[in-house]
Amino acid sequence: MATVTAPRRAAAPQIRQTQLFIDGQWVPAKSGKTFETINPATEEVIAQVAEGDAADVELAVRAARKAFDEGPWPRMDARERGRIMMRLCDLIEAEIDELAALESLDNGKPVSDARTGDIPLAIDALRYYAGWADKIHGQTIPVSGNYFCYTRREPVGVAGQIIPWNFPILMVAWKWGPALAAGCTIVMKPAEQTPLTALHMARLAQKAGVPDGVINVVPGFGPTAGAAIVKHPGIDKVAFTGSGETAQIIMRQAADQLKRLTFELGGKSPNIVFADADLAAAAAGAHVGIYLNQGQCCCAGSRLFVEDKIHGEFVERVVEQSKKRRVGDPFDPGTQQGPQVDRAQFDKIMGYIESGKAEGATCAAGGRRVGDRGFFIEPTVFTNVKDEMKIAREEIFGPVLSVLKFSDMEELIRRANATTFGLAAAVWTRDIARAHEVAKRLRAGTVWVNCYDVFDAAAPFGGFKQSGFGRELGERGLDSYLETKTVTVSLDPPGA
Ligand code: ADP
Repeated sequence: MATVTAPRRAAAPQIRQTQLFIDGQWVPAKSGKTFETINPATEEVIAQVAEGDAADVELAVRAARKAFDEGPWPRMDARERGRIMMRLCDLIEAEIDELAALESLDNGKPVSDARTGDIPLAIDALRYYAGWADKIHGQTIPVSGNYFCYTRREPVGVAGQIIPWNFPILMVAWKWGPALAAGCTIVMKPAEQTPLTALHMARLAQKAGVPDGVINVVPGFGPTAGAAIVKHPGIDKVAFTGSGETAQIIMRQAADQLKRLTFELGGKSPNIVFADADLAAAAAGAHVGIYLNQGQCCCAGSRLFVEDKIHGEFVERVVEQSKKRRVGDPFDPGTQQGPQVDRAQFDKIMGYIESGKAEGATCAAGGRRVGDRGFFIEPTVFTNVKDEMKIAREEIFGPVLSVLKFSDMEELIRRANATTFGLAAAVWTRDIARAHEVAKRLRAGTVWVNCYDVFDAAAPFGGFKQSGFGRELGERGLDSYLETKTVTVSLDPPGA
């Protein structure tokens, strides 16, 4: 059984900001309301956070609009924008321990993961886009006739950014990076479960020299603060990461204004292991693929397809590793898995575990709560899973792996693609031709070969099918923050 250590308050971070950040000021919500943010390891209240709603979003949009329409940010030398972004990265680096502790406290992820994973990746993304700031340019186009034609790449305007709770700081970086580099201004709503680090980042951005009104952070709930961002005519574009259900609501609400939208949504990613693979590496990849971040990853490798010839042996490895995974206090440096983010997620995941058992899958590891305080769940492996079971079809967003057996390549591709999602996939094989063949035929935005969860700020990430549209990261990630303007100049002399 997974071991558990009692949560303790080591390295408790200082919580400096719990108010809204609007136009460079820290302000209470207009309504005076606050909401609690909870430590998922102890179920204790961490802080009361100002609860923004439509009235606060109105002020934030006004500030962002003014900063975009009249302020220095879109007009300054692009290189200077890049320099300010670089300064922000230096400030994040200087406070990395404190930020990691805050992230862990609010989200429940092991502090070592935040310190060595999330925050370095966030810094990378912001530095990468800081480098883009002065490299965004158009083209000259050889049109017919006596004309000089060129394109300009201009910022799309005020970006509304709505982010989830699973990677709070990283999502801030993925959203702010391209928006700031492009010269956009921002109204961000962090998730209600994890508002603290986005507020801390706003403080650092101000210290780095981001002008007032360029970044506004309004914590609050989806149907109030989130919906107000989506519906506000002063917002030009909405970037959303979260669930497909919420994306559908956003799409309907944004339709009236034909607002630009990018979505990064859920997944049920196939992780495919052929018999010729390096099985030790594949088993380690299967482990990381499902359990990273307590299984709360949109690209989690939650459907593990194993070739029948090695199925028994491979499952044994996966089960053994799962049982050894250390679940417990996120502040203990030895902890590999913390609690799920909140009670709702915990209940949802436990419901899926029950449904797996009820539908006849074999629970080969885990399947139970860990301890009686905090939202800890055992790393769980189901075998004898059939494609039509709920645990093989729906996104669980928790530490629950479904193992499926395959024997034939054509059957495998058909089954792996038989999902409404298309975010990520992985294939493990020593046969290079087969690796590329599978990579080509899987309908997913990212395919990893002999690895899993390898991210880089330069490599685009996003979904096929109902896993979203638009891409984040890389050059593609800039596209959704830019408009292309075509300028055509007659070269005929005046009076000709
Ligand atoms: P999850 O199920 O992962 O929490 P959600 O899609 O519910 O995913 O939440 C992701 C983000 O979307 C959060 O910041 C949440 O507050 C916000 N959100 C939820 N509902 C709405 C909505 N109707 N309009 C805008 N944002 C919303």
